[in-house]
Amino acid sequence: MKRTELNELGEFGLIKEIQNKTTLYHPDSLKGIGDDAAVIDAGDKVKVVTTDMLLEGVHFDLSYVPIKHLGYKSVIVNISDIAAMNAIPKQITVNIGLSNRFSKEAIDALYEGIFTACEQYKVDLVGGDTTSSRSGLVISITAIGEAKTEEITYRNGAQDKDIVCVTGDLGGAYVGLQILEREKQEYLANPKMQPKLDQYEYVVMRQLKPEARMDIVHEFRDLNIRPTAMIDISDGLASELMHIGRSSGLGVAIFEDKIPVEKAMLETLTSEFEQLSPTTCALNGGEDYELLFTISQQDFEKIKTHKDISFIGYMDKKIEGIKLQTRAEQVVDIQAQGWVHFKEGL
Ligand code: ADP
Ligand code: MG
Repeated sequence: MKRTELNELGEFGLIKEIQNKTTLYHPDSLKGIGDDAAVIDAGDKVKVVTTDMLLEGVHFDLSYVPIKHLGYKSVIVNISDIAAMNAIPKQITVNIGLSNRFSKEAIDALYEGIFTACEQYKVDLVGGDTTSSRSGLVISITAIGEAKTEEITYRNGAQDKDIVCVTGDLGGAYVGLQILEREKQEYLANPKMQPKLDQYEYVVMRQLKPEARMDIVHEFRDLNIRPTAMIDISDGLASELMHIGRSSGLGVAIFEDKIPVEKAMLETLTSEFEQLSPTTCALNGGEDYELLFTISQQDFEKIKTHKDISFIGYMDKKIEGIKLQTRAEQVVDIQAQGWVHFKEGL
């Protein structure tokens, strides 16, 4: 029998294959595979469901990630997908795989982080599963949210000439990861050395303690705005732009000088990783958990002075793929790495 290597398909190729083989038997399954969350009809509203799995050694390294932060972050990554549907998170279930390497106190700390996120985002932990694991700690969380049918935002709703917007700033979580990895290597080489993380606090916290942008979802309701398409930025701006562009059947024009990057992140890059460009970190870094969305010209008027939203480009039916206009005013094609390689961390 023919053997196909997974990296020929890539993560998204593999998901596409599964999606193509899927049959939906129930008319209330309004949206299955292919967005940030599934959408299920629930009478006068809809429920949204998403799930994410984090594996030790792939998604996190307990030698520098405090286990309480890990608990918090594992909830956040799911709430972020609910936010990306323009829905309100309500419940989570938590599955953990453990070995006797972990003490009761370590699991208490993990759940302290989980409960802190539950309190912060007002979600109820309503169940889960506990098993033993031979390959390190496994955490898999499912989140359930709710919205009115007309509030839901899919990846495929962007229209020609819509404005492309992002919340917050990008690339910081990736730079934070580079700092943590470097300090770990230095510590392994010289265990007497204390890691010096204070001066990199901004980027390190972007990596260790991200937030989901529910504040923006609530603002959309207050301002009576409905993004035409939305996705959360978990894999990097390039990959998420590709998802919105492809599913909406449009190209995207982006301006490098509009991509939001934080001063503290730039300072860390300048002093520690001179070879890394901030734009590369924003495009391919990932784990920022900001929202990428598109809005009509009319809705743009309502948020054009918003301090935490950047307007980075526009959707264009005449463009193929993603075109980035650089600071030097050159136009370059952007490829999303996730489409080509089976990235570590899936
Ligand atoms: P996100 O980065 O927003 O979490 P993913 O890229 O993980 O999204 O997933 C994209 C879509 O593919 C989602 O609808 C998700 O539910 C679905 N998906 C991912 N892996 C599988 C799988 N093994 N089986 C079925 N659906 C999957
Ligand atoms: Mg997502």
